[in-house]
Amino acid sequence: MVGCQWGDEGKGKIVDVLAEDVNLVVRYQGGANAGHTVHVGDTEFVLHQIPSGILHPEKRCLLGNGVVIDILEFFKEYDDLYNRGIDLDGRIGVSERAHVLMPHHLILDRISEDEAKYKIGTTGRGIGPAYQEKVSRMGMRVADLYNSKRARSLVEESAQRAQEKIASLGADVEKQFDSDLESTLANSKRLVELATDTGLEIIDAIRGGGRVLLEGAQGTALDLDHGTYPFVTSSNTTAAAAATGSGIGPTEIDTVIGVVKAYTTRVGNGPLPTAFDAAMNEKMRTLGNEFGATTGRPRRCGWFDAVLARYSARVNGLTGLAVTKLDVLDTLSDISIATSYRTPEGIIEEFPANTWDLGDVEPIYETLPGWCEPTNGARTIGDLPAPARQYLDRIEELADTPLRMISVGTRRSQIIMV
Ligand code: GDP
Repeated sequence: MVGCQWGDEGKGKIVDVLAEDVNLVVRYQGGANAGHTVHVGDTEFVLHQIPSGILHPEKRCLLGNGVVIDILEFFKEYDDLYNRGIDLDGRIGVSERAHVLMPHHLILDRISEDEAKYKIGTTGRGIGPAYQEKVSRMGMRVADLYNSKRARSLVEESAQRAQEKIASLGADVEKQFDSDLESTLANSKRLVELATDTGLEIIDAIRGGGRVLLEGAQGTALDLDHGTYPFVTSSNTTAAAAATGSGIGPTEIDTVIGVVKAYTTRVGNGPLPTAFDAAMNEKMRTLGNEFGATTGRPRRCGWFDAVLARYSARVNGLTGLAVTKLDVLDTLSDISIATSYRTPEGIIEEFPANTWDLGDVEPIYETLPGWCEPTNGARTIGDLPAPARQYLDRIEELADTPLRMISVGTRRSQIIMV
């Protein structure tokens, strides 16, 4: 399951529904920068690193090798779930090959953003610096924690490098570093107890007739290669990364569900072609409660962008589409979809590689009638008003992907399976 816009598509809810029928749920990229919000009854859970599948008793959840694990935040989340009565015994595994994110990565992240030529609007969770260390082959992996001497020297070296960089920028955070370093090492013993070979576990589950859900974070337009670079995240968010980031081959994956919101939102910087004007933006933000789960930042909102959806369908190899938050459009009298972009060079139907051009395109819209009645009680396609079905049919057609799920509310039960 992958996000097909700029993240925040409501993936947490879709994972929560899909998790019902699987044995294993696996995160394969990103880190604590993701924030999935899941409502179980009247209780709200915001999960940053642990897969949302944890809210289903009996399911085992894994963090794959492609994830960067914020060791302190991970155990905060773990302990919070435990304290809220979730049984975690034997239910969480972390890849031995996953990289460990340490507190100084967060400090580096904030400083780097201040210094950056282009402000990306990162969540400040240290994800970029942790992936930089991984790619520069200086990172620390979970398997390194088996040897406490080795772990100490890797943590110290990493902290030293961060300290030098921070000092070169004129900041001084040495005191905090010492205590962070010790708490990282103290928690590393707990992390080792959860270490596993995620690829092997997944293959064993599949060979044993089980089902596995690979849960993406962020969205296609934030993919390091395929997104709106440089306004992207530091990992590959698209479907192929589900194999690399969990330790299996791509031929093991038989279904790719792409999640799209019934409109578009974007948090962080970078172009959003279908952005609303200020008044409509305010209205949709309130209707859809569009504030970041990780940072609380208000999201920019816009009409559904079929150019992006079609591109996402292609780069992810989608086999099905899940449309979320249809109910948020219930009160609108007209609803538009961007079908192509007008550029100084002519009309284009493919999502452009040049992010700077994307900022200047003028979307060409098709406007459909709204339905002006509640959809949150619908449980089958037939329960939906005719204009809502027409809107979904058009999305399906433009994205060239069959519709599989429609979400009409925050609750588990508010879902239509097609
Ligand atoms: P994620 O990172 O993709 O999971 O996205 P968020 O954490 O931002 O979740 C989206 C928010 O929308 C959460 O508060 C969900 O409970 C909520 N949500 C998900 N699906 C629906 C839906 O169909 N309708 C409404 N009204 N809210 C939804």
